[in-house]
Amino acid sequence: MANPATEDQRTLRGEVRLSGVGLHSGEMCEIIVRPAYVNAGITFIRDSVIIPAIAGNVVGTSRGATIGLGGVRIMTIEHLMAALRGCGVDNAQVEVIGSEIPALDGSAKPFVEAFESIGTESQGKARRRYLLRKPVWAMKNGGYILASPSESFSITYIMRYDHPMIGSQTIDFVFEESLFQREIAPARTFVLYEEVASLLTQRLAQGGSISNTIVVWQDHFSCELGFPDELVRHKALDTVGDLALLGGWLCADVVAVKSGHALNVQLAKMISEMAVCDGWEDSVYA
Ligand SMILES: [Zn+2]
Repeated sequence: MANPATEDQRTLRGEVRLSGVGLHSGEMCEIIVRPAYVNAGITFIRDSVIIPAIAGNVVGTSRGATIGLGGVRIMTIEHLMAALRGCGVDNAQVEVIGSEIPALDGSAKPFVEAFESIGTESQGKARRRYLLRKPVWAMKNGGYILASPSESFSITYIMRYDHPMIGSQTIDFVFEESLFQREIAPARTFVLYEEVASLLTQRLAQGGSISNTIVVWQDHFSCELGFPDELVRHKALDTVGDLALLGGWLCADVVAVKSGHALNVQLAKMISEMAVCDGWEDSVYA
């Protein structure tokens, strides 16, 4: 199987525009994703402030990853980040009009479809790979995420909910673009019915609806699932998006148990801080 970490950098062939309601803000938001030069990485731009999509710029991890710099914030970047990674886009600039990335259907699929329809092109320069010398992990409240040295990038996600509709679910795969696009990207976000009221009081989920979120009741889901294990696939999708904030291709076997945005981003931050790198190097050791 081809290892995407050893391929050349890619960018989009043209511009992609998407708009829709933001999951948490409830505002109408628009993004314009444009090609970018080699080694530019993924950057966000809002109100003329440029925010590199790296873990060090994450300013919030409550029910999503929020990136910010100089007082400017952009919420819920993780599904878009996962879609960029899943389409092999290393370099792109994402202009955001509004405070959040549009929720669309709650998955990464609409972003993937938009990127695939415009296509990507190789930029003739190797991707930056993050290679680990030893295992690295982050843990909190009974959850953990562990990355062990590997040549490729794999994810094993174990979800354990004391809930009759969820229970224990596991997904395990070696990251590869076509597999991600087919099996992981379409998995939608979800919320337990019991959490809805408290999220709304915290001014979260203001744009949530059954068209962008699977609501999990004690005895049914708000819609038919696309995969029997759609929920754990979505947790894997979030993990891919959060770890893309490393800014390069992680070569590691990742095992995550009850991990969410806070732990995922903490791991990406730890690996980037451990990395020995001054200037651009294709292989970075952490
Ligand atoms: Zn998500």
